[in-house]
Amino acid sequence: MPALFNAGTFILQNTACMQALIDIKNVHLSYDTDDGNLKVLNGFDMSVPEGGFVAVVGPSGCGKSTLTRLIAGLMKPDSGEVWLHGEQVTSPRATVGMAFQNPVLLEWRSIIKNIMLPLEIVPTKLTRAQQEERARYLLSLVGLEGFEDKRPSELSGGMRQRASLCRALIHQPDVLILDEPFGALDAFTREDLWQTMHEVKSREPFTCVMITHDLRESIYLADQVVVMSGRPARTQYVLDMPVTGARSIETLYTPEAAEMLKTLRHEIEVAQGRVPATSAAG
Ligand code: ADP
Ligand code: MG
Repeated sequence: MPALFNAGTFILQNTACMQALIDIKNVHLSYDTDDGNLKVLNGFDMSVPEGGFVAVVGPSGCGKSTLTRLIAGLMKPDSGEVWLHGEQVTSPRATVGMAFQNPVLLEWRSIIKNIMLPLEIVPTKLTRAQQEERARYLLSLVGLEGFEDKRPSELSGGMRQRASLCRALIHQPDVLILDEPFGALDAFTREDLWQTMHEVKSREPFTCVMITHDLRESIYLADQVVVMSGRPARTQYVLDMPVTGARSIETLYTPEAAEMLKTLRHEIEVAQGRVPATSAAG
């Protein structure tokens, strides 16, 4: 057992027998721009098992947000396939929740009304009382109990991001897509949010794809880290974490974590074209 993680705080990884919930196969995508055709994804592959948590890292502009839009069904690939639950994704679905770096809460609505907004847009079978119960449960899960009736401007940046997470989870999504969700927060607030994410993940059974620029965040939260190459992007490198599930911040300060961060840093530099692919990580 690796010294990096304490016994009893994790579930041993066993992805081999899990069915892929998200399966992205040989996806090509380009945008038509004023300057011509911009090739963004070039045979990108990725697979996420049910209940898995995959972090995606890569150079700025390589196509990470584009990838999230493909998984969410907001765009279609030029070629290749995006599968969710064994069905090809062709349109958006309520079973996918999304949260972004900017929480975009509506100032004229209370926090609880903000997080219940998706229930007004996409109908649900829940009664009004059940909807409110779910909203209150999620707010308590992220530590926002007592802030239900506040306005967004009365909350700190970290609290607004917690509310945004609740809104993404209100429909009990199968898939949660996070696009640099903690990127605008200070380091301490970010670490608090990481711990909240582990807590939320242990209670809500979603499968998560998280885009991040923060390599520590990727190894702290994810079961697997996928490094995208420079544009046009393909899957350049995949790092499997030795364990999945909750871990403590101290794990980031172990030699094993330092080794993983070194490897990922090297892969990012390769993706940025700053060092040749053949150069060793060590
Ligand atoms: P990342 O999230 O990795 O920074 P994006 O997926 O946002 O990258 O964008 C990848 C590339 O595609 C960038 O060069 C960006 O400018 C371009 N791009 C993104 N969206 C569009 C669009 N709707 N039309 C044209 N170009 C786009
Ligand atoms: Mg982006």
